[in-house]
Amino acid sequence: MRPNRIEHVGIAVKNLEASVATYEALLGTPCYAVEEVTDQMARTAFFRIGETKIELLESTSPDGPIAKFIEKRGEGIHHIALAVDDVAASLSDLERRGVRAVDHRPRQGAEGLDIAFLHPRSTNGVLVELCSRPDRGKNPIGTGG
Ligand code: ZN
Repeated sequence: MRPNRIEHVGIAVKNLEASVATYEALLGTPCYAVEEVTDQMARTAFFRIGETKIELLESTSPDGPIAKFIEKRGEGIHHIALAVDDVAASLSDLERRGVRAVDHRPRQGAEGLDIAFLHPRSTNGVLVELCSRPDRGKNPIGTGG
């Protein structure tokens, strides 16, 4: 498990539209995608900064993880996502080394990525997301022809 880069930083916000306007002004670049991730009960908005992204997250339910986070800690940085070649392989590698995971197998996140969250208790209070393209790190079928 060796991350290639920080894929994105996730920021929990109360109001996505207002926050998109704030970050468009701050970054001088338009939001390029808004997507609902039902699995996480959140609506997300993405900005590109070079190879890294900023992901704004607004809860779609008062019971969602983003709503609970804001209730406890207020708006702010929610997670850091590391790009890896293969989430499943990285997860089993980390769990073997005693790192606690929230997700024991990859699930689908925004932008069609395979994602999994590690437990903040194992990462100094920071929620860490691992992500990879689902077509990477596996044996691709039909290549080389
Ligand atoms: Zn994320």
